[in-house]
Amino acid sequence: MTRVALVTGGTRGIGAAISVGLKEAGYKVAASFAGNEEAARAFESKTGIPVFRWDVGDFEACRQGIAAVENALGPVDVLVNNAGITRDTTLHKMTAEQWQSVIRTNLDSVFNLSRLVIEGMRARSFGRIITISSINGQKGQFGQSNYAAAKAGVVGFSKSLAQENAAKGITVNVVAPGYIGTEMVRAVPEDVLKAKILPQIPVGRLGEPEEVARCVTFLASEDAGFITGSTITINGGQYMC
Ligand code: NDP
Repeated sequence: MTRVALVTGGTRGIGAAISVGLKEAGYKVAASFAGNEEAARAFESKTGIPVFRWDVGDFEACRQGIAAVENALGPVDVLVNNAGITRDTTLHKMTAEQWQSVIRTNLDSVFNLSRLVIEGMRARSFGRIITISSINGQKGQFGQSNYAAAKAGVVGFSKSLAQENAAKGITVNVVAPGYIGTEMVRAVPEDVLKAKILPQIPVGRLGEPEEVARCVTFLASEDAGFITGSTITINGGQYMC
């Protein structure tokens, strides 16, 4: 049986690597995106993975988006909540909009999508929900109280959902990456990278998006059926918990 996987924000960065990793592992994959049509279409033609545009922070848009994915590929067996944004600033300068947009995209989205797939997964007695958090949700980060709150929030959410669905063949886990060499991190000047970032990472290098993808692909597999409610850190030893 070919299982269906949906990767939110699956057209760029870490999400793109996850989409490709799952496709290579034999899943039928759908990748969602927000608005960068050019990147999404380029990803679709390069990989053959169909892309779907909607805002993961909007419950009704998620309902329609999942219906479109399920019409095209079949019921979602594996949900990867990867879409995320940052709006960094210290709390004493943060606007309500900066707080709300980060909570909406990084935390409300996890409720929206999980809520919309969980009943089907329970009915079919199989499911995998994997959410991408961050090292900064574990240790906090200057200028990221909004992002850290959302990324910590998904951990409590996932542990609760794991308990509610453990007897139904559904596992719910979190992956918390550290510095991963995506476009954004690679845009940091080489001297800043060497002087400020790499010294914090015992392994001495950035992580690769494919390393996150391999972890997600394992969590999605039948072999990972006894792993639920976990947070797996992928950070080169930067923060051990
Ligand atoms: P990118 O910015 O490269 O890509 C983000 C993806 O999410 C894009 O596909 C984007 O769509 C999509 N997206 C953003 N907002 C929405 C929305 N409202 N609705 C639907 N899709 C949306 O992200 P990264 O690869 O850097 O990060 C991926 C995940 O990993 C995030 O959750 C991030 O917080 C987390 N993370 C990243 C780290 C890193 O080092 N990069 C470290 C730790 C965690 P579009 O292309 O249309 O904009």
